[in-house]
Amino acid sequence: MNAYVESVIEKVKTKNANEPLFVQTVEEVLSSLAPVIDQHPEYEAADLLGRMVEPERTFTFRVCWQADDGSWHTNTGWRCQFNGAIGPYKGGLRFQKNVTLDTMKFLGFEQTYKNSLTGLPIGGAKGGSDFDPAGKSDAEIMRFCQSFMQALYRYIGPDIDVPAGDMGVGAREIGYLYGEYRRLRGAFENGVITGKGLSYGGSLIRPEATGYGAVYYLQNVLKHFGEPLEGKTIGCAGFGNVTWGICKKAMELGAKVVTLSGPDGYIYDPDGVTTEEKVNYLIEMRNSGRNKVQDYADKFGVQFFPGEKPWGVKTDICMPSAMQNDVHLEHAKKIAAAGVKYYIEVANMPTTNEALQWLMEQPGMVVAPSKAVNAGGVATSALEMAQNSERLVWTEEEVDKHLHQIMDTIYNMSVEAAERYGLGYNLVAGANIAGFQRVADAMMAQGVF
Ligand code: GLU
Repeated sequence: MNAYVESVIEKVKTKNANEPLFVQTVEEVLSSLAPVIDQHPEYEAADLLGRMVEPERTFTFRVCWQADDGSWHTNTGWRCQFNGAIGPYKGGLRFQKNVTLDTMKFLGFEQTYKNSLTGLPIGGAKGGSDFDPAGKSDAEIMRFCQSFMQALYRYIGPDIDVPAGDMGVGAREIGYLYGEYRRLRGAFENGVITGKGLSYGGSLIRPEATGYGAVYYLQNVLKHFGEPLEGKTIGCAGFGNVTWGICKKAMELGAKVVTLSGPDGYIYDPDGVTTEEKVNYLIEMRNSGRNKVQDYADKFGVQFFPGEKPWGVKTDICMPSAMQNDVHLEHAKKIAAAGVKYYIEVANMPTTNEALQWLMEQPGMVVAPSKAVNAGGVATSALEMAQNSERLVWTEEEVDKHLHQIMDTIYNMSVEAAERYGLGYNLVAGANIAGFQRVADAMMAQGVF
């Protein structure tokens, strides 16, 4: 491994000893870059990597809100503007009780390379709060979002930083957040946030985009191996927005998602989530706020496995689409033993580094990384920004066509980048290298700061 890469990883480990997620993602990305750094001594001379692992700026703020019973609550809010070299900062907001600054930094770092891969002008950021949306009333969610935006609005703007949704932040939250921004700024700057409702500047296909994009990417992988998607079985995790989009597109293309998971366990539906009723029920499950996948089993009479993860169920394709570090080494071994041939990450960093490495070493196992596979979501956010600045609304077909093209390009760029550095068909290293290259070029051109 390249000595400069090693020294930067070591520094990150020492400096961020309390931020294991951030250390994990830095190690994963930087270790892929060694062959690039070997060929570019000028990067070390400008301490390019040392600068890339330091967020440009991060804000931490207090968010106070009142519950329906009159009691006051205080949460922490963050926005980590990681890298703005190629465009305004862009990335989602996550509301979840266990998030910390570490979560923001790991997601902001990943976002930088993901956004670069889309080929669109968007820098990397992430934000959110340790607010727990579970069981909150609509009015409580609204007051929380308003308070959150009262602190955040001074740091964002259509040309500065453009937040969006992530876990715990969907269309409802985006609406309240944008409403408060508009009120505070006194301007209809709807390019400040994406994932908006259609009535005030949202884009068609944005809700589906991450899932659709993941399936478009998967089609490229299958095509490489001369296999059709039709008839394939897919094991997913989660049942949120991303998994919903995968189910919908898979159904349309004749494949079927047979597992879903939640904090309570997983379900196995041998017929697949392949009817409109089933697909729509995922939205209902999410909106209920119960956060229980067992509801699906009860409704459709399929098996529910309490407290278990879906890894090890026999499927052709595995798409972990729930959350970070959902797949550990022991799960990876079960996945391989079940005969899965395509391991397509979807959630941000769903696999531990150890499990990812192990899976990549298995003969015949094809591994695709989340930062490429799930980039269709943020890419469509950038398309939403384009529509907002044009004051136009594109048709569903137009947005979908762009999304499809972007996913094909991400796949092709990743394949080419790995080949260029003699790494063969390595989608993980290829995505890291291709994502890195554009940010590196922009940072080198803009001088050291
Ligand atoms: N949170 C999503 C992601 O992880 C979407 C971000 C966005 O649309 O800005 O990429």
